Amino acid sequence: MARLPRLTVRWRLIVLIGCLLALFGGADLVQGYMIGEVRAGQASLREEYRRFEVIQAVQQAIIETRHIGGQLNSAIMVGDVAAQTKARKAQVIAQQAVSEQLKRLAAFEPGKAQLISESLASLESDSEKAIHLLAEHREKEAAPSVAEVQRRANLVQNTLDDIAMQERNTSERVLLLSEQRIDLVTWTSLAAVIFAFTVGLPLAVLVGHSIVQPLKKVAAAIADVNAGKLDFELPPLTKDEFGQVALALVQFRDGSEALRRIAFYDSLTGLGNRLSLERAIAVLLAGGNGAAPVTVLLFDLDNFRSINDQYGYSAGDEYLCEAAARLHRFIPEQAELFRFGGDRFVAVLALTGDRSVDDLRELAECVLRGMSSPHLQGPRLLNMSVSIGVAVSPADGESAQHLISSAEAAGRAAKRSGRNNVRFAGGMFTAAMRSQMVLAGDIRRALEHGEFELYYQPIIDGPKGHVVGAEALVRWRHPQRGLVAPAEFIAAAEDAGLIGALGEKCLRMAHAQATRWLSMGLNLRIAVNMSARQIQDSRVLEPLKALRAQGPEAAAMIELELTETVWVERSENTRRALEEIRRMGYRLGMDDFGTGYSSFANLQWLPVDKIKIDRQFVDNMAVSQQAVAIISAVIALARTLNLTVVAEGVETQQQMDMLLQQGCTLFQGYLFSPALPSLEFEAWVADFTAERARYTH
Ligand code: C2E
Ligand code: CA
Ligand code: CA
Repeated sequence: MARLPRLTVRWRLIVLIGCLLALFGGADLVQGYMIGEVRAGQASLREEYRRFEVIQAVQQAIIETRHIGGQLNSAIMVGDVAAQTKARKAQVIAQQAVSEQLKRLAAFEPGKAQLISESLASLESDSEKAIHLLAEHREKEAAPSVAEVQRRANLVQNTLDDIAMQERNTSERVLLLSEQRIDLVTWTSLAAVIFAFTVGLPLAVLVGHSIVQPLKKVAAAIADVNAGKLDFELPPLTKDEFGQVALALVQFRDGSEALRRIAFYDSLTGLGNRLSLERAIAVLLAGGNGAAPVTVLLFDLDNFRSINDQYGYSAGDEYLCEAAARLHRFIPEQAELFRFGGDRFVAVLALTGDRSVDDLRELAECVLRGMSSPHLQGPRLLNMSVSIGVAVSPADGESAQHLISSAEAAGRAAKRSGRNNVRFAGGMFTAAMRSQMVLAGDIRRALEHGEFELYYQPIIDGPKGHVVGAEALVRWRHPQRGLVAPAEFIAAAEDAGLIGALGEKCLRMAHAQATRWLSMGLNLRIAVNMSARQIQDSRVLEPLKALRAQGPEAAAMIELELTETVWVERSENTRRALEEIRRMGYRLGMDDFGTGYSSFANLQWLPVDKIKIDRQFVDNMAVSQQAVAIISAVIALARTLNLTVVAEGVETQQQMDMLLQQGCTLFQGYLFSPALPSLEFEAWVADFTAERARYTH
């Protein structure tokens, strides 16, 4: 079986037909020969019958002449001349008949016919001589002739018997032979049939199988190809015609796979291109059956063009690959990423049941944060950030094209509003607006009811083992929802114009706390977060002024943390406000350092007192050389500018050790404590200090 495919199908069929022809032809030849032989046997049998006839005829004719001879003898004996004449005439006719039959006998027994004819002739003459002598009553003289007649008659009879016997033997032999031949013919036919079944049939089945099986596979593969499938099961690459077809199919598949890659994939990043994006959206829209909304997130790199212009295309390519890799890392697992062309990427995902606008915003913000750390490319530290446009079906479009163009429009809006930003397309935006309006009303009410409070997270000087301060982190003690984290309401408060009021509330609480701690003899700095929106509002200075007037010592303990966006905007008003704040005696810190846009350059625009290394770098330190490089660069820069450096989000001893090695001394993070209500915080500080004291003694 395994052997067969070595032969081509043509040769297999030729061999099969040849074998069958040889088999049945051979049997036919043998049978034909045998039948011929049987026929010949039959002919000779017929001949034998004819000979018996001849012998019988000779015997009959002799009997006839003897009978007439008897009548003649009687006539001679009685002397009836008339009867004698009549008998003699009859005798002549009978003798003619005998000689005629003897002539026929002579055809196959010439010697014996001669002998019979001579014996008969002398028998006639002797018999007549004897009769005449007897008629004359000369019995003694007649006796020798009578004996001679008797002898001759016996001779004739014996000769005829001989011939008959001989012919019988011959015919019996012929009969036996032809019976044997008939047997032989029967057996050869049977043997041919058995042979055909035992050899011919399996051979035919084998050859048939060796053709039908691969034929089925080839047909199935071709059917798959026709149906547009490329992952069809390949027929084996045998050496026969099917192997050639399989080879052709392989070449076809590889060729179309290559074409498909060119048609549907971006060669630089390996991501699907615009065409496969449209297909993927169409598939999700069709498969979703309207149940699961399809979300399209468009990511537009903020400063790709300047990288291309400044450092060339290969640097640009590398930058794009890094951007693609980061996006991949930060989008959800079930989302699919595509390169939309140039410096734009698109992620597509089907929103599952309970996902909301807030989840999408959170997702987009996670990507913004993830993307926005500088990228160390060779000797250069390149900033990276994206603007994100989000569109969701069906509100923002019910077709792939419509959804994409909605996301593009939203992406442009994000770019206009200051890059490193996310915007929702119309449909979703109104939904988001609606829920934000509800939230805004809730925040307003919460401000009136005093539902906001500050939690404090300790900041520790590692080498000295002191608590040097705390970051004040706002919490909302919601009557229904319980304790709510700032991520859930800060953005809404900003959008609703309530951040000023909320910020002022926090400042007052922090100032009161500082006053209390000073009175307790606790010398702790309090870092208070300020959003960019808050600082853009000129009214921000009022409460700061008031608090300073109320208690300048406590005000001096307050450090305002601002995210980099404040620096990025570089508005003159902001700059003036910040300078004024510093003049009032407040300290300024740059929060989330490294995640924003061209961080280092911003430091020169407005000096600050403190830099806070973003949690993300601390997180990545163990796995990314780049993160370590950036941290050590930040620390070196901070030293030369005489700035305090705090690392936030320190969760493990290993992270702290690495940071210490880099020269960072101030830490904040779960390794020490999460943010705590003020009383708990105070107890924690007392414990920590006591513990350290015990440890150092
Ligand atoms: P942030 O200024 O970067 O604050 C640090 C956040 O990291 C806090 O989250 C803190 O609880 C968390 N954190 C501290 N240590 C660790 C750690 O070791 N591991 C991890 N995974 N997280 C750690 P929180 O309190 O939820 O605050 C989130 C953000 O909300 C803050 O980020 C800040 O941007 C904003 N925020 C908080 N309070 C205020 C406020 O009073 N005013 C304004 N405008 N924004 C605030
Ligand atoms: Ca902060
Ligand atoms: Ca931070």
